[in-house]
Amino acid sequence: MFKTCAFCNAPFDGDGGPSGLGVGRRLAFDEWRGRLWVVCSKCSRWNLTPLDDRLERIESVARAAGGTGRVVAATEQVALIRWQRYDFVRVGKPQRVELATWRYGERLRTRQRERMKVVVPLSIAAIGLGIAANVAAGGGLGVFVWNLHSIVDSVYVRMVGRRRVVLPEVPICANCGTVMELRARHVQHARVVPDAHAEIAVVLSCPRCRRDGAQLTGADAVQVLRQGLTYLNVTRSGRRRAADAARVVDQVGGPDRLLHEVARREVTLKSLRPERRLALEMAVDERAEVEELERQWREAEEIAEIADGTLSTTEQLEEELRRIKNRLGYQPNG
Ligand SMILES: [Zn+2]
Ligand SMILES: [Zn+2]
Repeated sequence: MFKTCAFCNAPFDGDGGPSGLGVGRRLAFDEWRGRLWVVCSKCSRWNLTPLDDRLERIESVARAAGGTGRVVAATEQVALIRWQRYDFVRVGKPQRVELATWRYGERLRTRQRERMKVVVPLSIAAIGLGIAANVAAGGGLGVFVWNLHSIVDSVYVRMVGRRRVVLPEVPICANCGTVMELRARHVQHARVVPDAHAEIAVVLSCPRCRRDGAQLTGADAVQVLRQGLTYLNVTRSGRRRAADAARVVDQVGGPDRLLHEVARREVTLKSLRPERRLALEMAVDERAEVEELERQWREAEEIAEIADGTLSTTEQLEEELRRIKNRLGYQPNG
């Protein structure tokens, strides 16, 4: 088995786990077509593994995935399964899956780490400044230290809110005609709405005139939602325990139902209850991830068809050649 990605040449991470390949932390498999890929952690392209003993490898990956693996997200064709420290992507076989425990906890820890990267240096700088200012003013440190946490915290929240929302095409307000240059904090006034032609649709409020400015669907809608919800969920009122959000999703009956219900009510993101907001963010995130996987799979499958197809054609040719030789009286000699 190759040790580096055929597309970007980066070395694979992981040890292949149950596949026995010796490389790979994210593996994709298709039991029906007998395909096995190592997904590159750097460029996310799918590397088709060689044919020899592929079936046994697929079988042991499928066994691990089906046994104690958790399905974290799924489309009709693709399921993302976590097992120990591996990610398995099961493709091709439409199968009803139970969406098990969400990885909210994991996500929240990552966010907390990201926050500390800003908060810690900022606090150190603020303490230095505060001491200088207080000494200069002849005052004590008590009040300053008391406020430090909330000062630093609001700086962080504002920083996340100022992040630019980058879209392939900048929307123009249908009401006042201005180019809508959106920051994450502007998205809090957006609404998820039902749309007959798209799975997700969002109506953006114009930062200038504050009326409904533009409607986004598909990948654009997902991106805007993710940024807006991330901002709302780092604000103080938005920090909720993962368990509360998980309960919300369970009560509604799954991430898709949650999206549906939020769209039906057409309320702004800001007016959603905090645990619902967090649940919605997770639902949108996982959907985006698994949809991207489905896109990657379709691409990888095209390549696999060519690669494996060529091989079987060669085998057919060899077989045909043997038959012709036999007919002509050649003796096969190994
Ligand atoms: Zn790569
Ligand atoms: Zn406007």
